[in-house]
Amino acid sequence: MNEATLILIKPDGLKKSLTGNILTRLSETKLEIMAAKIVKVDKGLATEHYKHLKDKPFFNELIDYICGEKHNRKKVMALVYWGENATTKCRQLAGATNPEEAEPTSIRGSYGRITTSGLYENVIHVSSNKDEAEREIKLWFTPAEVIVDLYPVKESTVNSCTHVVWA
Ligand code: UDP
Ligand code: MG
Repeated sequence: MNEATLILIKPDGLKKSLTGNILTRLSETKLEIMAAKIVKVDKGLATEHYKHLKDKPFFNELIDYICGEKHNRKKVMALVYWGENATTKCRQLAGATNPEEAEPTSIRGSYGRITTSGLYENVIHVSSNKDEAEREIKLWFTPAEVIVDLYPVKESTVNSCTHVVWA
């Protein structure tokens, strides 16, 4: 079944100059890129993205990490990949959440690390499933930034200006 998934190259991936390398690895999947941009992540976006982890002891450090505070690189590359079993394929290439447990040739196994405080700096985010992918893609991208119609949209008029937004 064709589906979309959200990929983020996290600030450590950008700081370690891994962008080209990670995109090359992802191209092995033969999935299509339907959206891509560099984002300066603010606390609001970070907190919404990781809201399922808000009770975890590492939450504040995770927010600092994705905002680029820990790497002095305040940017993330966000992409939408689309195609058959996109989430499963990308998560397999990414490897396990814990880089020590990730398959050594996976992206996280190759480039991730665990900080002395215990946070997993694992260079890449991939949505966990179809519903999470939809929530995350709608959070990170506007309809106009995605070159295919993934989800229903509606028109919204603010100060006589009409925009297309997620329905
Ligand atoms: N994370 C961590 N310690 C944990 C679990 C998660 O540092 O015990 C961090 C890690 O960077 C991970 C992110 O929180 O990628 C989001 O966690 P999630 O459980 O969603 O894992 P993922 O879907 O990224 O594999
Ligand atoms: Mg996750």
